[in-house]
Amino acid sequence: MELLKRKIELEGRVISDHVLKVDSFLNHQVDPHLMAAIGKEFAARFQNMGITKILTIESSGIAPGLMTALELNVPIIFARKRNSLTLVNDLITSTVHSFTKKETNEISISNQYIVPGDKVLIIDDFLANGQAALGLVDLVQKAGAEMVGIGIVIEKSFQEGSNLLRKEGFRVESLVRIKSLENGRVTFLQEGVSTRYEQII
Ligand code: 5GP
Repeated sequence: MELLKRKIELEGRVISDHVLKVDSFLNHQVDPHLMAAIGKEFAARFQNMGITKILTIESSGIAPGLMTALELNVPIIFARKRNSLTLVNDLITSTVHSFTKKETNEISISNQYIVPGDKVLIIDDFLANGQAALGLVDLVQKAGAEMVGIGIVIEKSFQEGSNLLRKEGFRVESLVRIKSLENGRVTFLQEGVSTRYEQII
């Protein structure tokens, strides 16, 4: 997605060889026009698949997830990382180890909003080691619903999540794929050029 690539080139800050900061448009301040374009792009990639719900995780998945939900005309559910006063009964839970915060969180959703028969699209902001996505897949499976695919705004293809999820057979659509953050700069994977892993399988 060229618009997103340009935004990353202009505003992304490489914090280390593994972490990209995009606080100016996705993780703190949010660019609504970019989110609208992201929603349209995900909706186009997952159209005609009978999706009934979007599932994401608070907080940075909510903006792109919401715009995708609007385009597909379905509700969005965000998994919570903390216990909520109002979310107490009939919880479905999983655990996720956070790549950026180096901590393990229990994530949960109410069993009222994802039910057997639902076809669920998972959306998240970043894909690093794949733990957040796997935790969300686990919630969908525990709810007895069908997992249709995973939409990722920024995939860091040099970390293990991308291979892990595709090897599990999940359909993963990433709007941009980053090959490296070395030497303080962002290098994107060339579209149409497969990764080493894809060449192996
Ligand atoms: P994973 O579970 O795939 O290891 O990591 C995904 C989660 O970690 C995302 O939901 C995102 O919040 C956070 N994350 C991973 N890598 C980055 C990064 O380079 N930059 C930012 N801002 N967040 C990241």
